[in-house]
Amino acid sequence: MNAPQAFEIKEDIAHYIGGQVVMPQGTRFADVHNPAKGSVARRVALASKADVGKAVAAAQAAFPAWGNTSPLRRARILFKYLDLLNRHRDELAAIITAEHGKVFTDAQGEVTRGIEILEFATAIPELLKGDYTEQVSTDIDNWVMRQPLGVAAGITPFNFPVMVPMWMFPVAIACGNTFILKPSPTDPSASLLLARLLKEAGLPDGVFNVVQGDKEAVDALIEHPDVRAISFVGSTPIANYIYERGAHFGKRVQALGGAKNHMVVMPDADIDKAVDALVGAAYGSAGERCMAISVAVLVGEAADKVMPKLIERTKTLKVKNGLELDAEMGPIVTRAALDRITGYIEKGVAGGAKLLVDGRGLKVPGFDQGFWLGGTLFDAVTPDMTIYKEEIFGPVLSCVRVANFSEALDLVNAHEFGNGVACFTSDGNIAREFARRVQVGMVGINVPIPVPMAWHGFGGWKRSLFGDTHAYGKEGVRFYTKQKSVMQRWPESISKGAEFVMPTSK
Ligand code: NAD
Repeated sequence: MNAPQAFEIKEDIAHYIGGQVVMPQGTRFADVHNPAKGSVARRVALASKADVGKAVAAAQAAFPAWGNTSPLRRARILFKYLDLLNRHRDELAAIITAEHGKVFTDAQGEVTRGIEILEFATAIPELLKGDYTEQVSTDIDNWVMRQPLGVAAGITPFNFPVMVPMWMFPVAIACGNTFILKPSPTDPSASLLLARLLKEAGLPDGVFNVVQGDKEAVDALIEHPDVRAISFVGSTPIANYIYERGAHFGKRVQALGGAKNHMVVMPDADIDKAVDALVGAAYGSAGERCMAISVAVLVGEAADKVMPKLIERTKTLKVKNGLELDAEMGPIVTRAALDRITGYIEKGVAGGAKLLVDGRGLKVPGFDQGFWLGGTLFDAVTPDMTIYKEEIFGPVLSCVRVANFSEALDLVNAHEFGNGVACFTSDGNIAREFARRVQVGMVGINVPIPVPMAWHGFGGWKRSLFGDTHAYGKEGVRFYTKQKSVMQRWPESISKGAEFVMPTSK
């Protein structure tokens, strides 16, 4: 593979409303950094309540025509978009690496996982087919159809600036809704390329809009009476807030939150494969993934087999500018995130955990000001420690030693988060019992990061998800549509006059 082109655009990042890039007068701005260089790369606009109002008005105006467009015609536009996204895949990946810092090949993987949701959404004519019962009662038929909601909004985190928005808008617009994306202000640029390519694919203006911004934009979306549904992905405190506020304003809400994903390694596991899995899942994307493994639960004698190999692999991680093709891990996204993560490492040491590999103070030649942290490994972590209880969201792996399978399962089930979990074993019965009894939404057996494919839906349990439906897949179609049930009887039926008794099947 050739070295990727760096994304160097200096222009301020604006909103995208009604098919136009819009920069209102008097806009507030936030800085967008290049985390490898540690420098400000460009600025992003922060929408006011009035800016959000304009985006909602554009989306509301576009809804009647788009909602009435046949699913097949909507799918044809998505097919064109699919072709365009495949052609711009590396450009999107380079934008992600420039603003997020993750390595380019990982960014390519992110774009691919987003594209897979689009591939799913192109099947919308099939997915929207309703149920029908002929002769549900004498001379009466009953059918169920799913109709779009209207304007839907998506509020997304920094860690997947392409994939997470694509968990939402392809399904939402395929279902006939119009959409407003509020991306993370940390890495906003990809959203505008996603929007421009939708227009090029033939999507009518106003069906997809982007408002850049912070809490002011989010609150304006939640409070706006014409926004019918909110999809949120981000940290648990904000997910909880969005869910409660959204319910207060009568909206349909799905709010996916934070995580603390455990990987249980049984003594009978293939130890080399388990170590490979731990290193990739803990340090890939600098641990800034909601499905990253942040706790290794080492059962019995697995601990002494895993630990020396894990120490070696953590020490030799290639941490570099993400555009270098042999990089295994890039920088941390922002200075504030780096400070937060190093603060957790200090708490781990103070709390009595054994710091076996310390990533602090890492220098990367040529990138002196970058937000660098090497892979960090703790042993002897216990459930009462802050580094065990809280989400760190960085390249810090905590190892907890337990005596047996049932202790491992109890440990996982007692945690407040329930996003993803993995169990490495060669025992089919252990694997089966683990998958059945674990209180977590997404489970991997010998798979460290079990992110479900596009048609299966994504979602955690407990404080990792607020709401009833998971993201994308058929759950996504349910979330972005409402059910209508129709009963019909035609005039040939013999009229018996008014009926005052609850009708029952005859
Ligand atoms: P975040 O919660 O800080 O921000 C998410 C979104 O909410 C952003 O668009 C942000 O602008 C907005 N926001 C931030 N503070 C707000 C406030 N006070 N009021 C209203 N809106 C606000 O999350 P982040 O740091 O961007 O992303 C990392 C977090 O996201 C981690 O906790 C990670 O686990 C989680 N995450 C979860 C999943 C999942 O599927 N469960 C996926 C990806 C990321």
